[in-house]
Amino acid sequence: MVVGEFERAFAAGQFDDVANLLAAHGVGVWLPEAGGPVEVGSVMHRALMTLLGAQSQREVVRARQRTMTAMRRQVVEQGRYLGGRAPYGYKLVDAGPHPNRVHARWGRRLRKFAPDPTTARNVRWMFAQRVAGRSAASIARELTGRRVQTPSGRHGAAGEWSERTVIEILRNPRYTGRQVWNRTSTDRSQRAAGADRFAQDRNGMGKWVVSAVVAHPALVSEEDFVAAQSARVVRTGVDGNVHIYRYVGLLQCGECGRRMDAHRVHGRPGYRCRHGHRSSRTRPADAPSNLYRREDQLTVAIVDRLSRQGCRIGGDLDEIEAFLRARRAIVICHRDEVNISLRRCGRRVAATNLTAGCGRRRGRRHNPRAESKPHGQVPS
Ligand SMILES: [Zn+2]
Repeated sequence: MVVGEFERAFAAGQFDDVANLLAAHGVGVWLPEAGGPVEVGSVMHRALMTLLGAQSQREVVRARQRTMTAMRRQVVEQGRYLGGRAPYGYKLVDAGPHPNRVHARWGRRLRKFAPDPTTARNVRWMFAQRVAGRSAASIARELTGRRVQTPSGRHGAAGEWSERTVIEILRNPRYTGRQVWNRTSTDRSQRAAGADRFAQDRNGMGKWVVSAVVAHPALVSEEDFVAAQSARVVRTGVDGNVHIYRYVGLLQCGECGRRMDAHRVHGRPGYRCRHGHRSSRTRPADAPSNLYRREDQLTVAIVDRLSRQGCRIGGDLDEIEAFLRARRAIVICHRDEVNISLRRCGRRVAATNLTAGCGRRRGRRHNPRAESKPHGQVPS
């Protein structure tokens, strides 16, 4: 075996890993740097291979850095598709010759997403249903009932839609027509033994690379995409009226730290915390009483609190809710006041079309309980 360029043959300790195997099969390795055949038993040659391996490794790291920088620029400036499967609802189509003449010469072409006639309407329908307040589980049930083929249907799996699949689709920002890259990272140090794929981690939204231009036809408007992210709960009450709880998932009890439940308070939408007690019978006499907050009173308190934190926001309910959700806010509710922890200023998120500013500076005093949770901060 003759190695012309060692950087392309092995890196780090890879030569060591195969040297004995090759020797056992009588395969010699020739290398210009060794002046001929590498002698596996020679201390000098072993040292040389270690050195070349280290040099090669450094080149790998540098090349990866260069590639990442270039890919980032291609996504942001040109919205270019950088590989991977087309999301459900799209198919890959030809987008002309490759702009790089070297690549174009050997016939490489650009590709982009185009709506898939059969599945794109399912995606549009799913967003519309979600925006109308329907739960992901209910959407999944109807798709299964209508015998719509699942995204993994072609792999022979049963045609059953899971809530998870629907949520994944509703959370994918590529449906807004923008190209998004780096939503996951592959950790090469964590490769599981025997696994043929690297473990993938979800990156926080702050690490996403979002194209500044629209790269392919949108299946959902940016407004509807943001609305679909609001996990607002719509319930039909015993009186047959539809009740909407705007702040579900955003409120935390200031007394015990639990998430507050949607609950009618004097016939109006509101929230309560029972501090973990299921009924009044099991509760010790000295336990604190339930915390109840009416939604309309909460709205006033939230707007007031935000303005004192330097966030300009009007009294429009949709705007307030979208503002809080876009910033993954936690509203800590006490009996007579609220504290709000904003975990992200959504400037860099493509699908955020909010104009309201956020004046929170890093380092300002805020609720320590909320801040102890991991959060994705947008690098400034
Ligand atoms: Zn509580």
